[in-house]
Amino acid sequence: MVTTPIPTCSEHHTEKEWRLTTFEYQEEGITVRVPNLYAWVCPVDGEASFTPDTVDELLLTIRELLTTAKRARERRSELTEYIVSVG
Ligand SMILES: [Zn+2]
Repeated sequence: MVTTPIPTCSEHHTEKEWRLTTFEYQEEGITVRVPNLYAWVCPVDGEASFTPDTVDELLLTIRELLTTAKRARERRSELTEYIVSVG
């Protein structure tokens, strides 16, 4: 639920939209994408601001996913992309 007032993009001076977007994180050549997350999104350039709760959860999960991906790279796995869904 949204309990905060609508934030404004400081760059474009437009109201952000609360909608589904994809979180993307890159580290050491590994990309983690988490689709279907709600965030405040600037309608001009699509830049997303995630809530602190979402970020906390993301960081925990992404750390584990990166560990898994790095292990796969070390053993030169031919599998380079994984899509995992819960629920
Ligand atoms: Zn903007």
